[in-house]
Amino acid sequence: MSTDCLFCKIVAGEVPSTAVLETERAYAFRDIAPHTPTHVLVVPREHHADVASLVRADPALLAEVFEAAVQVAEQEGLTGGYRLLANTGPDSGQTVFHAHVHVLGGRPMGVLA
Ligand code: AMP
Repeated sequence: MSTDCLFCKIVAGEVPSTAVLETERAYAFRDIAPHTPTHVLVVPREHHADVASLVRADPALLAEVFEAAVQVAEQEGLTGGYRLLANTGPDSGQTVFHAHVHVLGGRPMGVLA
């Protein structure tokens, strides 16, 4: 655990969150400022700064995070489709430097900027 990482604190239960799915190595919870009717974040329980670091350190764990994201989409009933998004590095707009995948859905979305 990284002591000043917000998502490490959420995984540890030190900062409250609304759980959506829990697996042994991943945790999914609702985004505090949703961009779409369904907006869930899926994180590895272990700290990695972003998905690039994660895939190099433990590609199986990144696969588990994506598997959990697909399960979330199914559980949330996103039958019309959904967007999985992993901001990586400052130019992407990443604001929390603990690897995470956004699960966005519940309305039609336009093309990416
Ligand atoms: P990113 O900009 O890709 O780093 O995404 C970080 C996301 O974390 C943003 O969509 C924020 O709304 C979300 N967020 C920040 N603080 C919290 C929190 N305490 N609980 C849930 N989501 C949060």
